[in-house]
Amino acid sequence: MAFVDPDGKEVKPANKAALNIIVTGLTPKEAGFVRLNDKGFIDGAYLKQGMEKLGTVGGNYSSLIELVNDERIIDVIVSRTFETSRGIKDMGIATYQSEFEQIYEIMGKGVTKEQVAKAYPSYSTEKEWSGWFGVTLYPDEGADVQGTSVNGHVQVVVNDVTAVDEKKAPKKMASTFAHEAYGHTLFKIRKLPHSHGSIKSLKSDSPENNKMLEIQIKNRENEAERNYDLHQK
Ligand SMILES: [Zn+2]
Repeated sequence: MAFVDPDGKEVKPANKAALNIIVTGLTPKEAGFVRLNDKGFIDGAYLKQGMEKLGTVGGNYSSLIELVNDERIIDVIVSRTFETSRGIKDMGIATYQSEFEQIYEIMGKGVTKEQVAKAYPSYSTEKEWSGWFGVTLYPDEGADVQGTSVNGHVQVVVNDVTAVDEKKAPKKMASTFAHEAYGHTLFKIRKLPHSHGSIKSLKSDSPENNKMLEIQIKNRENEAERNYDLHQK
């Protein structure tokens, strides 16, 4: 039986870690207007008050308002695993390392870093994230792909990558939340095409590319990362 939403208008973070990836993607001032009601849902009236008091708000804040005002329940979960109609899936361990570190790891023992660097001079030493960072599950679609959500809610699941790099992980998770929630989920609610195409480009007008979504995602991720830094000052 489907859970009946009494108020219609809910975004529900599952715990403190989940609330954290939402608020750190907003400016500190905006974040001051995010609070939970006694049912554990984000208080939409208070968010709206915040918008009136602040005058102008960023795209992440206005996207959050739109999600909260939608009648669907959106769960926000921080976890490496998630459950769908097709079972329990594991997003696996992400990595935060450079191309050089990766090749050095693969080469195994018996060679020095200097030898590897000489053999692969073009490999970057700049660290980058790679892996599976998040997923959005819908109750009404995805049955033949990753599966549908099992509780009738939309579920934004962000991979807990804190074990990979404790310092960098919270920023990556705030950015991933913005990607899933303010990109895929928001476009779903707006009844727009909300999945990536086979091409992911900010420029290509090919029918294989969902350009509007890619631009939205990039903007929301960038804003979340900038805002995250503001919280560290
Ligand atoms: Zn995506």
